[in-house]
Amino acid sequence: RIAPVIDSLGEAFARSGFELALVGGPVRDAMLGRPHNDLDFTTSARPEETEKILRTWGEALWDMGRDFGTIGTRKGPWQVEVTTYRSEAYEADSRKPSVAYGTSLADDLVRRDFTVNAMAVRLPGREVVDLYGGVVDLATRVLRTPGTPEASFSDDPLRMMRAARFAAQLGFEVAPEVVAAMKDMASRISIISAERVRDELVKLICAPFPRRGLSLLVETGLAELVLPELTALKMERDEHNRHKDVYEHTLTVLEQSIDQEKRLGGGPDFISRFAALMHDVGKPRTRKFHDDGTVSFHHHDVVGAKLTRKRMKALRFSNDEIDAVSSLVELHLRFHGYGDGEWTDSAVRRYVRDAGDQLERLHILTRADCTTRNRRKADRLARTYDALEARIERISEEEELAALRPALDGNQIMSLLDI
Ligand code: ATP
Ligand code: MG
Repeated sequence: RIAPVIDSLGEAFARSGFELALVGGPVRDAMLGRPHNDLDFTTSARPEETEKILRTWGEALWDMGRDFGTIGTRKGPWQVEVTTYRSEAYEADSRKPSVAYGTSLADDLVRRDFTVNAMAVRLPGREVVDLYGGVVDLATRVLRTPGTPEASFSDDPLRMMRAARFAAQLGFEVAPEVVAAMKDMASRISIISAERVRDELVKLICAPFPRRGLSLLVETGLAELVLPELTALKMERDEHNRHKDVYEHTLTVLEQSIDQEKRLGGGPDFISRFAALMHDVGKPRTRKFHDDGTVSFHHHDVVGAKLTRKRMKALRFSNDEIDAVSSLVELHLRFHGYGDGEWTDSAVRRYVRDAGDQLERLHILTRADCTTRNRRKADRLARTYDALEARIERISEEEELAALRPALDGNQIMSLLDI
């Protein structure tokens, strides 16, 4: 599918005397047979020269930040980015990447994060360049760094987050020496800006296998630095609900809410997934053991919502995202008051009003949270929630009708008109 477009760009660069190669994600995904509309290229041309070629070849032009040497364009369904060969490294204690142009494709490939991302296809001609065994790693589904993982992570500690992200996206294993380096070097993540960490975390959580990525973060100690609330759940046993531990339960709730995402009609929903991940983070802070051997977590919803806000703020999420996720965390327990005595209509209305825009997601989270080892109890909870949802539907229909009803009824009109 991508052959005509990559050949055509390759020829345009060759005509001007420059090398061009497709690199990274699109090469990996083409080999995996996954569709990918972003085409990333690397070239011997400098940005000014690339710009000249793309101006006539592409349909629009944008500068992705001249400092990074990337020029972007569009061609039909394809998003095209062309970056000048470069070799970039992070200074050990600096937050600023130092960008230097490289002189060959090999230079450009060696600085890449994982072998499966470090393959290229030279154009035109489509010669595959695989200097680090990416094809084999792709076939055996493993993430490995082109050089030693220690050197790679010390150049750019964000790659540790990326390892977890790709594990979650591709469902690959992470090579043992890479996991070991992540454990050793986890603390280095602190030199990376919160925004970059956040972006990888969002991709990880929205991936098909978030459990894999999250477990890796917890296991290597990275979670303790970027999402400590998650690590804190690890040892938190909730005997009352007979979860193995709250952490296990959390991952299950996340997976159950992913199953329910279809309700929202679209693809992965970060807000709903992150709310699932954070819904019980108030538990470690609120746990109390009682004489009868039970455990309680008084107001863990409120505490959890506060912790969620704090964490999302630190990770520089937008206020809208913070409000959405924290309100879901705060409201997720409300449903447990339903069922026994049932709610009055005004309690149901309050539930709808408090949920606001998040009602559909609250349905997802609450249903996902109704997981328990006891199948029969889970079914009963799900049926009770069905009943609540049906009632919400009915009440909102009645309210809509009420809004349509005129302020005067027929009798009043007749009496006013004296007929
Ligand atoms: P996708 O875009 O589908 O999420 P991708 O592989 O294209 O996946 P990007 O983050 O877009 O991932 O990066 C493009 C390519 O650039 C990667 O495949 C990798 O080769 C390289 N790369 C990106 N970030 C880094 C980094 N921090 N260190 C090393 N190489 C990187
Ligand atoms: Mg990409």
